[in-house]
Amino acid sequence: MNNGAFSMKAIEITDTKKITVIDKAAPVIRSPDDVIVKIAAVSICGTDIHTYTNTHPFVTPPVVVGHEASGVVTGVGRAVTAVQPGDRVAIDPVLGCGECRPCRSGRANACADVKCRGVHVEGAMQEYFKVREQDVHKVPDTLDDLVLAAATEPFAVGAQAVWRGNVEQGQVMLIFGAGAIGLTTMFMAIHRGARCILVDLNQSRLENARRLGAFGAINAADPDLVEQVLALSRSGGPDVVCDAVGNPEIVGLCVELVAPTGTVILLGMDGQPNNVTELAIFRKELTIVGSRMNSNMLPTVLELLTVKRLPFHEILTHRFTIEQAAEAFDMAIEQPQGFIKAVITFP
Ligand SMILES: [Zn+2]
Ligand SMILES: [Zn+2]
Repeated sequence: MNNGAFSMKAIEITDTKKITVIDKAAPVIRSPDDVIVKIAAVSICGTDIHTYTNTHPFVTPPVVVGHEASGVVTGVGRAVTAVQPGDRVAIDPVLGCGECRPCRSGRANACADVKCRGVHVEGAMQEYFKVREQDVHKVPDTLDDLVLAAATEPFAVGAQAVWRGNVEQGQVMLIFGAGAIGLTTMFMAIHRGARCILVDLNQSRLENARRLGAFGAINAADPDLVEQVLALSRSGGPDVVCDAVGNPEIVGLCVELVAPTGTVILLGMDGQPNNVTELAIFRKELTIVGSRMNSNMLPTVLELLTVKRLPFHEILTHRFTIEQAAEAFDMAIEQPQGFIKAVITFP
């Protein structure tokens, strides 16, 4: 048990583009289902960047962010049976109210009162982090580098997208965005037997996507984008089209490009209206689905990791120490060539 209060380090975004390594009291077990995790690594997501640049719609510094985390269990409450001290785990950051219809059906990610750790409540960028038993999932021995397990959450977002889109063997899937989430969605779609075309504005990201398994990679600025997509897909367009960027204009393109009776998956969270007409959806009898964070997809990803190699290392391209946290966030803004995601490692 880890019940003596002691001081530990946490990475706090104190103000716009200001990061301070603070000392704070380490968490202690209070509830029977508490689990304390000694954090190994936390990777940086777009949401965290918005908090860092103080452009997040509802998060205001000072705040400890981070929702993509791995670590080792150091303490458990008396009712915990799923894990024990010494277990290597990945953390699911989604917290539902536990009472409403989505929560009761296992979809806390769509709870009206959902909270994501590192966004609505304190995040994982600290040496020790307290979560609930249900939030931790054991990392298989096949992944020896625990730092890489921080990528479990972004892969779970990809798993959620292909589950929501009901992606199947033999389908062609078009994904807008070849960043971290576009890529994790692609990897999970490939595991379901689909073939993926990626679209992005960044040529080096497109080359990367092709190297990692995309059978088509098209620049979004190409004037013949539509023709190229149609040439690569059968059945009058891709069976599934996914917006992993979150731009209202892309929603229109998704509806235009997808094959009749196909599915459009929306992963973005732009608040602006788009100009998609009801007729466009009606004519092709489309299915349009939203995909938000993940609904207990971490076990799916970790199970797959035991039988197949998911390329976690291709997502976490750049490593930083706690002291280099500001550098990590700045690089995530600059997005230099070859960069997909920064991960902060804890000692
Ligand atoms: Zn994320
Ligand atoms: Zn709920």
